[in-house]
Amino acid sequence: MENQEHQEIILRGIGGSPGICIGKAYLVDKEGVDVVKKYVIRDESRSAEVGRFKTAVKKARTALRRIIDTTPEELRQHTQILETHMLLLEDKMLYDRTIDVIETERVNAEWALKKVVSLVKPIFENMSDDYLKQRAEDITHVSDRIMENLVGADLVDIGRIDKRVILVARDLSPAETSQIQLERIKGFVTNRGSRASHTSIIARTLEIPAVLGVGNATLKIKNDDIIIVDGETGIVVVNPTEKTLLETEERREQYEIQKALMARKSHLPARTKDGVRISVMGNIELPEEVVSVLDHGGDGIGLYRTEFQYLSRPDFPTEEMLFDNYKGVVDVMGDRPVTIRTLDINGDKAVNYIRDSHELNPALGLRAIRYCLQKPDIFKTQLRAILRAAAFGEVRILVPMISGIEEVEQTIDLLDEAAQCLEQQGVAHKRDIPLGIMIEVPSAVVTADILAEKVDFFSIGTNDLIQYTLAIDRGNRHVAHLHQPLHPAILRMIKRTCDVGREKGIKTYMCGEMAGEPLFAPILLGLGVDELSMNPQAIPLVKNAIRSINTADLRDFMDVVMRKTTADEVQELVERHFGTVVSHIEPEQQEQ
Ligand code: PEP
Ligand code: MG
Repeated sequence: MENQEHQEIILRGIGGSPGICIGKAYLVDKEGVDVVKKYVIRDESRSAEVGRFKTAVKKARTALRRIIDTTPEELRQHTQILETHMLLLEDKMLYDRTIDVIETERVNAEWALKKVVSLVKPIFENMSDDYLKQRAEDITHVSDRIMENLVGADLVDIGRIDKRVILVARDLSPAETSQIQLERIKGFVTNRGSRASHTSIIARTLEIPAVLGVGNATLKIKNDDIIIVDGETGIVVVNPTEKTLLETEERREQYEIQKALMARKSHLPARTKDGVRISVMGNIELPEEVVSVLDHGGDGIGLYRTEFQYLSRPDFPTEEMLFDNYKGVVDVMGDRPVTIRTLDINGDKAVNYIRDSHELNPALGLRAIRYCLQKPDIFKTQLRAILRAAAFGEVRILVPMISGIEEVEQTIDLLDEAAQCLEQQGVAHKRDIPLGIMIEVPSAVVTADILAEKVDFFSIGTNDLIQYTLAIDRGNRHVAHLHQPLHPAILRMIKRTCDVGREKGIKTYMCGEMAGEPLFAPILLGLGVDELSMNPQAIPLVKNAIRSINTADLRDFMDVVMRKTTADEVQELVERHFGTVVSHIEPEQQEQ
């Protein structure tokens, strides 16, 4: 019988960054930090205990600063996360409250910090917005750093690892991930984490395979075990058999060949086999991401989620700050289109300086355009900044969460007012820019014919359209399996929007996550979507998928698709017809 110790084990997690690697495991152990004991301190020792806490924070700050200053150039864009960690270190919620607990409850600093983190973290974890949810992880990373200094645990110095290994850790902070040296570390596996975490964003930037959220990786994998990490499927194989190794090696080679071929073609336009040109654009949240869109061959910015500039601040940004930010993006993009979406705050993206924003049902509350129309001054500040930036490039303006024509009319009135004001003040601007609306509320689909009279384009936001059509909270993991882009109701909604757009002579774009899935490209083209926008890494894959399609073949295919009654049936059909071609590239097609 095979030795238990060396039996092949398969662990499942979340594919955080695609690619396959095979190698020896290197366990990074940070367990010590979690075992915190409580003890009461004497009255007279309270200020010394507070001092101990402050020293630990100071050490953490110095260590972070060192990491930021020594981060390699290609990862500089991610040091913003570490700058956020620097701010969090001294955030009132964490810093002042911990000192308060030490002083009022007379407990040791470790215990006070642990208590405060356990109170603060759930506030973030319970937010339905994925981005804010990830901030709970940042709190963990920051408090771990302080805790390590308090308990005297060794920091994991990933930069010093001197073998070619695969890291296995309970969690890796963005700071640790950014220290990864590509020539040493082949990939990593973590117990915690999800696809949207900064750790996996950095892994994708580094282009190393990563599987996150495995749960028990550090228990099941031992140092020096041979492991396979498949960042696409989220599978980790421990102690693979000879047969598995051979099969994996073959798949890895194929993957690398395909990736290299796709990257070589990513800067060429995406044309279908019969010559239809489709623009493939990038979605960004921060101006720094523009570079990534260009690097991956994006034809423009299809969605700039401007709210992130409002979220990471103590107060509303000024017109000048917004203008500088937008102009920065427009300047880099040159004559390529930049679609600036107006503020989509509240709902799932709460802004902490808006005091009265607590709502029982935020997804259906005073979100996005509804908020902006109630706060015309805040809205006009943004509109002025957009109109000013428009004077420097190809700006489009996109309004989120439109549910009826009045909201469009009021927005147009405010745009006119903002432009008139700029005119009177003699400030350079451009009023005549395309105005689009997000199609993400079912009533917008139903009244698309009315809305089309007033706007220049539609952009379908499938993330919310699915949430509002299928009544599925997009942040709730219990109903995540029902979040189905291929649901017949969603396909019909997309079809109606495109049909109305075509009838009324306006284009229909898509910027929800559905647009970034190569397998869905034939369906989206078949339904009549004119332009796709996605996370930058998906651009080469979707461009490649488009090149494998002949639009002439889509009519018959779509007849069958639209007769299907479930998402599973549609998925099965599209996989059967296009599964191999959309994910494959022929070497001889290279210079097409
Ligand atoms: C969407 O809803 O599909 C969309 C693109 O907007 P967001 O994800 O920012 O809500
Ligand atoms: Mg949306």
